[in-house]
Amino acid sequence: MQTKFIIILGSLMSGLGKGVITSSISKILSFYDYKVLPLKFDGYLNYDSGTINPYKHGEVFVLEDGAELDMDFGMYERFLNVNLKNELSITGGKIMTTVISKERVGEFLGDDIQIIPHLTGEIIKWVKNVAAKNNLDALVIEVGGTVGDLENGYFIEAMRQLSLSEDVEFINLTYIPQVGLSKEQKTKPTQLAYRLLMQLGIKPDLLICRCGSKLAEKTKEKLALFTNLTNDRIIDDSDVDTIYSMPIMLMAQGADKILLDDLGFKNTRNERKVREWAEIVDRLSKPKKKVSVAIVGKYTGADDSYASVKEALVSAGAELGVGVSIEFIDSSLIEKKGYDLSPFDGILVPGGFGNRGIEGMIAAIKYARENNMPYLGICLGMQLMCIEFARNVCGIEGATSSEFDKNAEHKIISLMSEQEGVTAKGATMRLGTYGCMIQDKNSLAYGAYKQERIMERHRHRYEFNNEYRELFAKGGMVISGMSPDKNMVEIVEWQNGLGIGTQAHPEFKSRPGNPAPLFTSFVNLCIRTRKT
Ligand code: GLN
Repeated sequence: MQTKFIIILGSLMSGLGKGVITSSISKILSFYDYKVLPLKFDGYLNYDSGTINPYKHGEVFVLEDGAELDMDFGMYERFLNVNLKNELSITGGKIMTTVISKERVGEFLGDDIQIIPHLTGEIIKWVKNVAAKNNLDALVIEVGGTVGDLENGYFIEAMRQLSLSEDVEFINLTYIPQVGLSKEQKTKPTQLAYRLLMQLGIKPDLLICRCGSKLAEKTKEKLALFTNLTNDRIIDDSDVDTIYSMPIMLMAQGADKILLDDLGFKNTRNERKVREWAEIVDRLSKPKKKVSVAIVGKYTGADDSYASVKEALVSAGAELGVGVSIEFIDSSLIEKKGYDLSPFDGILVPGGFGNRGIEGMIAAIKYARENNMPYLGICLGMQLMCIEFARNVCGIEGATSSEFDKNAEHKIISLMSEQEGVTAKGATMRLGTYGCMIQDKNSLAYGAYKQERIMERHRHRYEFNNEYRELFAKGGMVISGMSPDKNMVEIVEWQNGLGIGTQAHPEFKSRPGNPAPLFTSFVNLCIRTRKT
């Protein structure tokens, strides 16, 4: 069967949840046993997201193959429970680099290279190639940005061209504001946005409306009238308890039937898959008691900076029947005025770069260790756990990382040897999946993973300095995970069985219904040791 293409376009503003819709539409097709993958266009000229500050663009999500991508890829993986590949991300920078490299070797000899047809042609070639290579029934494409932006214009034009020869379904996500005390639902912005799409030669087949409350029948009728669509093609996207209920909410409105019909797909749903998903959603939306976790980091001003960490905590909680309330604490605040960490059931220090706020994170780790509070350190959080231990248990004054002070005497954390001399910043870290051997069956790590060889995703340049291994062992730090060649310390633990740090990023592999083992064991410890 020829692959069908489903294009998700957002109107009026960003932040409406195109990622959730892209994931949900893909999930729905998987409920009907179709082979489907998501793909994303990002208009920015960066080659990938690796060099973008998480404050600006949310967390950098790392795939198995080491690609550093937009956080939407985390959402896709969590919804679909699959490991995606770099080829599913096309940025402005990537597609232009492809075209220009071809030009340099003379592939367009004689031609002046234009946005249309060369750049658009390359985009079409790319998506068709992904579809064929992966033998897909459907490719769901999220167009990043908003319709009308300069950045994504050529991507949208490419999709118009694609629709001339292929089966393409256009889905438009829009926003319906509710104005004043009466909360009247206003359709005018969407009417204008729709006109803009029509100017671009695109007629949406389905209109999904983000709104604070359910769409009134009157609103639907009005939208239908102005958009040449029947009422049943105007779909409600009002607030939900958990985003994971969105596929079910869309199906309850018949969006699946319309989609299948339009694409000429058969209508037999795999009820087992739907049931399994509904159970996961149920566990996520009805937690009984709560534990509270402090995430102490530097990008705490924007929730999205630690999206996967947050999701992993929530999924772990759902598995254990508890809700996890998360407070983000800016570590510089702890540095400046101190912070009362006693109300929390556990402390987590996530990944990060640079030395701002480092001392506040170290103070939080010290607090956890001295007060027998569960601690989970991820990447930088593991490195700082080692520095705190060196300073306050092994008595090494001034212990630090060469990331913070190249000339320090005691670099407990040092630059990995293969990073020496690396100056370029894009895709040059130790990235993607690497193995780790758990050293001791009595360790927290083994208790969590229940197997000796594990695989996790990584993103770092620095590592534990092996010169300090012996001293740490004497001081009582357990090195419970090593790289298979025994050269790199991957996991460390306190002897009290409450604190663990990993050089990896287990949050990237965590899925609802299948949470990352270290997160489950951390939340479990929070439940077991909580005071009330
Ligand atoms: N900055 C540290 C390193 O590069 C930690 C990286 C991270 O937390 N992802 O090793």
